[in-house]
Amino acid sequence: MTHYQMYINGKFVDAVSGETVASRCPSDGEEIAVYPKGGVADVDLAVAAAKAAFADPTWSKPHASQDRAALLRAIAQGIRDNADHISEVEARDSGKTITDVSLVDVQWAADCFDYFADLATQIYGEVIPVPGDVLDIALREPLGVCSAIVAWNYPIMFAAWKIAPCLAAGNTMVFKPASHTSLSALELANIMSKVGAPAGVVNIVTGPGSEIGEAICNHPEIEKVSFTGSTSVGKKVMQMASSTIKKVTLELGGKSPNIFFDDFTNLEAAVGAAMLGMYFNAGQTCIAGSRVFVHENIYDAFKSELVRRVGNIPVGHCLDYDTRMGAIISEGQMNAILNYIELGKQEGANLLIGGHRMTEGALSKGYFIAPTVFECDRDDYTIMQEEIFGPVLCLCKFSTEEEVIERANNTIYGLASAVWTLDIKRAFRVAKALKAGQVWINQYLMISNFAPHGGFKQSGFGKDLSKYAIDGYTQIKNIYVELCDDDAYMSTFE
Ligand code: NAD
Repeated sequence: MTHYQMYINGKFVDAVSGETVASRCPSDGEEIAVYPKGGVADVDLAVAAAKAAFADPTWSKPHASQDRAALLRAIAQGIRDNADHISEVEARDSGKTITDVSLVDVQWAADCFDYFADLATQIYGEVIPVPGDVLDIALREPLGVCSAIVAWNYPIMFAAWKIAPCLAAGNTMVFKPASHTSLSALELANIMSKVGAPAGVVNIVTGPGSEIGEAICNHPEIEKVSFTGSTSVGKKVMQMASSTIKKVTLELGGKSPNIFFDDFTNLEAAVGAAMLGMYFNAGQTCIAGSRVFVHENIYDAFKSELVRRVGNIPVGHCLDYDTRMGAIISEGQMNAILNYIELGKQEGANLLIGGHRMTEGALSKGYFIAPTVFECDRDDYTIMQEEIFGPVLCLCKFSTEEEVIERANNTIYGLASAVWTLDIKRAFRVAKALKAGQVWINQYLMISNFAPHGGFKQSGFGKDLSKYAIDGYTQIKNIYVELCDDDAYMSTFE
């Protein structure tokens, strides 16, 4: 069993209180590590270190951009060099499948550091054509000490998504991983330390969100909080951040529609896409396509193919390469999902398959829920409105384009969406009408380092990834240079 430490000011340290928390594998309940249970005192130390690191011009000034790019590249390479080890730690810590973690999460994290290394030397403002004999420059500057608080569903990826753009722009970072999944961020700290990240540039504080998260959001010397998590905690984060007018980015929950028109006749591909959208990462994905709308002409065939294939999804231990769907992160989350399933049944949604905990054989040691499909004839079922964050798909029939757009938009969320049709005009019409930060056409779940990710409505605001992420880690300073030497143009009060 590994004893992890936090990473503050370039050193690995225990919590000031000396307290620790055990990390258990959701697949089998085995204790795999302990890590520090940090508190307010640890946040204060991390912020002081980040502040001092930012004050060092060899880190934060524009001429250091090539050094920052080189550091980000070294971190990317460090992740690749340690990919097998990190993948195993991440899988065991989270219950995610080793296949998904190694092929998607860890590679992506490395690619993300490389992507922002490319951008680090291209962060600049612009000259504004102000009338007169004037040079006006909108200068893009780093914010200072930034923070990030993230969810447990893609731990190493979220660490990369937050830390890489923050550093590329010349800021420093206090990072809080989710309490359930703190280990991969501490593995990342190990890499950062080995490749020579300057002390204090990145600080990783582990422990409970209610204590550390709140200390971060209220801290007067933190300029920004980038939050990925639930809409309910996101609202609190925004409130707390307002006390010191911190810049805020919120990546929150979703209830995303996945819409299949009847001209998309490749049933096998359509059903496969609906399953990928819902059951990837056991449904614990913010952009999960949890409401699947299917046109009435193809509905019956779609439904029977979906139920047949969902019943065959291999559910199992995170380290088994044959597992396609892993465990739920915790007992509490598993029970929350089971409660939603009960509510779905009570309110009258038609359970087609699944709907129970899986306890056969070794599965009894972990938190597994059978992939579930409800047929929903109403949009006001709780399971159609609230984010379940588990493998529960709501299947709905629709008749017209206008109807499905209205129903698809009928939630408080606006994170992701998809439309499947071969009619390009309809595809664009629907894409423009959907109120979501992401629309896929004939695709699902594809996110790229090169393209912005973020929600509309109560799914949040601000963007992760792409050049748009840099907007969230920089501020614009306007510099107005008077070039006219005629005194008549000089500002005066008289
Ligand atoms: P959560 O909101 O419970 O926790 C998120 C983070 O906030 C954790 O690190 C937690 O420790 C911390 N936290 C908890 N209470 C806090 C408080 N009072 N103050 C400050 N921080 C606090 O979310 P979760 O259960 O970890 O993750 C699931 C949620 O995250 C889902 O709603 C999902 O949709 C959302 N999510 C969104 C995106 C996106 O990009 N939009 C991505 C992944 C997950």
